Amino acid sequence: MSCQPTNPPATVDIAALRDRYRQERSRRIRQEGQAQYVPTTHHGAHAEERAGEHGAEHGAGAATQIYAGDPHTPVTPRDAVSEDIDVAVLGGGWAGILAGWHLHAAGVTDFRVIDHAGDFGGVWYWNRYPGLQCDNDAYCYLPLLEEMGFMPSKKFADGHEIRAYAQSIARRAGLYDKALFHTIVDALTWDEATGRWRVTTDRGDTIRARFVIMANGLLNIPKLPGIPGIHDFRGKMFHTARWDYGYTGGTQAAPVLDRLADKRVAIIGTGATAVQAIPFLGRHARHLTVLQRTASTVDARNNTATDPAWAATLEPGWQRERQQNFHHAAMETLAPGEGDSICDIWTEINRNLAAQFDAEGWPQSPQEYAAKREVMDYRVMERLRGRVDSIVEDRATAEILKPWYRYLCKRPASNDDYYPTFNRPNVTVLDVSATRGVERMTARGFIANGVEHEIDCMIFASGFEVTSDLDRRWGIDRIEGRGGLSIYDHWAAGYKTFHGMMTHGFPNQFFTGFIQGGVNASTTETFNQQGRHIAYIIGQALARGAATVEPDADAQAAYVAHIRATAIDTSAFARECTPSYFNNEGADVTDERGEKRVRSYLGETYGPGFYAFEALLAAWRATGRLDGLRLAMPAEAAPAI
Ligand code: NDP
Repeated sequence: MSCQPTNPPATVDIAALRDRYRQERSRRIRQEGQAQYVPTTHHGAHAEERAGEHGAEHGAGAATQIYAGDPHTPVTPRDAVSEDIDVAVLGGGWAGILAGWHLHAAGVTDFRVIDHAGDFGGVWYWNRYPGLQCDNDAYCYLPLLEEMGFMPSKKFADGHEIRAYAQSIARRAGLYDKALFHTIVDALTWDEATGRWRVTTDRGDTIRARFVIMANGLLNIPKLPGIPGIHDFRGKMFHTARWDYGYTGGTQAAPVLDRLADKRVAIIGTGATAVQAIPFLGRHARHLTVLQRTASTVDARNNTATDPAWAATLEPGWQRERQQNFHHAAMETLAPGEGDSICDIWTEINRNLAAQFDAEGWPQSPQEYAAKREVMDYRVMERLRGRVDSIVEDRATAEILKPWYRYLCKRPASNDDYYPTFNRPNVTVLDVSATRGVERMTARGFIANGVEHEIDCMIFASGFEVTSDLDRRWGIDRIEGRGGLSIYDHWAAGYKTFHGMMTHGFPNQFFTGFIQGGVNASTTETFNQQGRHIAYIIGQALARGAATVEPDADAQAAYVAHIRATAIDTSAFARECTPSYFNNEGADVTDERGEKRVRSYLGETYGPGFYAFEALLAAWRATGRLDGLRLAMPAEAAPAI
């Protein structure tokens, strides 16, 4: 079923809005970029050592309190593992689960999945804050629905349902027997003599793996703002990815936060996480202060239960068809007559444009399309600002909550309870954009706009390391390929890969995520594609008895040239956006050609689109020739001494 276009305000003063957007951006941009956040490792355990004196004043030690340990599963002692295996999969979130699923399907059985969490699930393991749901269509987002015979209970499924589903896939693929949980990889080094990766961990393990799959995720390391004085605060602090129900009361499944009834709580951040958690905090805390630097866009949710009659009509192949439709509507363009089956905030602009083009003719050039899309963008954002006015009673509060940037400068949210929360007498929002964030923490609370506020608890909904430098985002101290070359140095001036999944000089190592390839509107579908492709290459290398498989330098250079020639450089758009992880806090990076560009959270995306990239990979696999890869047989790879 297709849905109808919306009717956003027809007349908007684009010149005035453009000016306003620029002003809002320049008010927020911080010269120190990512350095405003304290670098942490997975558990914050090494934060203090790494951050040095500056970090200590600005809170590196606090990271230990805020992230340390696993609130969900007790860590149990175990003996260190020393073993030789075929494949080490680093990460047990979606990327690792899907890699494991495809390895299993390709007949590769001798592998390990290593994760710092106590179970499978990745972000869905760690994040259990009240109100957690997926923000995009669960029928697209949850992978392998047809293979698993599973149907989400509603359009935006609850976090605990998603976690249980992820774990059921891991169970079906036999991954539990292969899991090493509560284990942090600290170094990965290529051993030329044995033709294996040496994987060492904080549990004393030494695993010698022929192949390594980096499935370490996109949102795996929580980010802590380096607020001066954070050490001094004597109250409770935690990050939303480590929700402390022992302190707040309630559980993930029943988030009645009754222990907050006598507590003054503050929350830093108003991103996608905070939008979901704030209604619960507002309902239960004695007082809630929301510290906002940049407002989110928050649309109506329309979260409907799955209609069994609809589910019964679905034909085999339906999920792929729906994912394609979502991808076109959210990230590319709808084709004439395609319709929009998704019908939410992600697809509104393209749905409206399709209706407009049906009426007045489809654009004849990309320029014409971009110009019309820009107008629709301003109109839809105006509608969303109008939504704030229609719900929030206090005018000054409504003004603070309005978003002033183009659609997709920040991740759009939808929530029916978010704006009404600000009508509660016990909830205050403080705009801290003038000081580019909270000024300081004190023993009793925090200082915002020059005024000290006393609180009992500070919750950090401050996000994750997404576009920061690779060593911060991966949190693995050493990754060294041939000749001891560090991957962090190898890619310092930009990615160099073959299909975004391998790189010359790092044999038998595979990468997942947004590096240099196709990106689907459903992140899990990107991981699914990568898992399938990587499992194919590993399966082939094993079947052919190869000791190493590595991209040829020329083939890699040709691929990099190809992706850069086709890539749509979104720097111009991102430079106009308010700073966030979407655009590396607004800071340009210099690539190896000396050109300045914005580091996008999507990496270098294949311009012709995700499904064109999928076709490219499928055609490459279909030849069976492994063009561009060099397979070395055991004698070549490790000559006998
Ligand atoms: P974000 O990075 O989106 O938001 C962090 C928030 O913290 C922003 O509002 C940021 O403000 C604020 N902040 C950071 N530093 C300071 C400071 N010094 N003072 C005041 N405010 C500060 O993180 P989220 O956890 O909200 O979301 C991260 C991602 O996780 C999402 O984009 C999404 O990909 C995923 N997610 C998915 C969900 C889903 O599908 N269900 C739900 C939740 C998250 P500013 O914007 O000004 O930088």
